[in-house]
Amino acid sequence: MTSALLPTYARYELAFERGEGAWLISTTGEKYLDFGGGIAVASLGYNHPHLVEALTEQAKKLWHTSNLFQMPEGERLARRLCEATFADRVFFTNSGAEALELTIKMARKWNAANGHPERFHMITFEGAFHGRTLATIAAGGNPKYLDGFGEKTPGFDQVPFGDLEAVEQAIGPNTGAILVEPIQGEGGIRVGDRDFIRGLRALCDEHGLLLCFDEVQSGMGRTGKLFAYELYDVVPDILASAKGIGGGFPLGAVLATEEAGKGMTLGTHGTTYGGNPLAMACGNAVLDVLLADGFLTDVARKGLLLRQQLAGLAAACPDIVAEIRGEGLMQGLKLTVPPADFAAAARAKKLIVIPAGDNVVRILPPLIVSDEEIRTGVGRLAEACAAMKAAKEPEEA
Ligand SMILES: *Cc1c(COP(=O)(O)O)cnc(C)c1O
Repeated sequence: MTSALLPTYARYELAFERGEGAWLISTTGEKYLDFGGGIAVASLGYNHPHLVEALTEQAKKLWHTSNLFQMPEGERLARRLCEATFADRVFFTNSGAEALELTIKMARKWNAANGHPERFHMITFEGAFHGRTLATIAAGGNPKYLDGFGEKTPGFDQVPFGDLEAVEQAIGPNTGAILVEPIQGEGGIRVGDRDFIRGLRALCDEHGLLLCFDEVQSGMGRTGKLFAYELYDVVPDILASAKGIGGGFPLGAVLATEEAGKGMTLGTHGTTYGGNPLAMACGNAVLDVLLADGFLTDVARKGLLLRQQLAGLAAACPDIVAEIRGEGLMQGLKLTVPPADFAAAARAKKLIVIPAGDNVVRILPPLIVSDEEIRTGVGRLAEACAAMKAAKEPEEA
């Protein structure tokens, strides 16, 4: 029977019915080690007792009231996010794309509030991914995602990732902000280098632009820091978060300084669901775990272990793995074979990894993954490499 779902995804012949820690159990009872985390979403893995309790307790009390009323748990989560970061203000959304939409709107409004409504352009980067709404596909600039959807939303000027000179040249009278993923996720785990990211801050300061970070994938502990900007000793003016922030419950957030948020006055933005009590219960519960003593330090340590294990893998299979890159538990393997084929070979070994751009598979295990699971997972990657190599060799012979 054909599916009643819109066929925008090439879904694998695999469905899961439950999860436990870093493991997923399929509807046929098979256990998979999950090094994808539902694309960096299941930050605390599956069936985490603290998250389950927070969500079920809230579910028994109240699901939704709308943003017409006070949101005590939202106030608390916003306060905690501000205390843990550069930010003074937070707005909650339901998704990453919505967080980026507000990031874009906020940057435009800040420039307008400063008497420069013409500065609605943002500089963005090749290989970026910011979501699938009309504005965020324009910001991401991927022609595959823009094709057939009418005129590209104006206001995004794209330059190569890592090219500071190109950024400087692209700054014009309409430029109001720079939007960057410090570590590109979908683009293939491309880590912005220190001079580049720090250089963007310097250019923003020099030209009076806002620096906006998309940390939907790189944030919430993924790199061993709460947000990746901390790795660079740089602070953005606006930051978009989502994915791991809700631990699997749909939640996004925009974090901003008081100054960057100054244009977003009464009535300038809104959302029906954003920041609802269920989402806030999950967001606070995720943060409880991430901010607990030693948790992020341990993520960083596990990131190094993963990296070291992957280096061994790359050394053993140089004809399949060309490069390893990433930070913490956000790693990518650049391959000599199609990443979708490699991910299929890994699934055959009961390991989930996620294809990305630039011929990379992403490795994004839940942050609660154990050392032993890291070793098991990399062992399965080695088996996938061997299978890919065996499949490749007859052609070459
Ligand atoms: C996933 C992602 C988004 C979009 O998030 P959605 O929740 O799918 O809308 C935006 N930016 C980055 C960097 C992402 O990885």
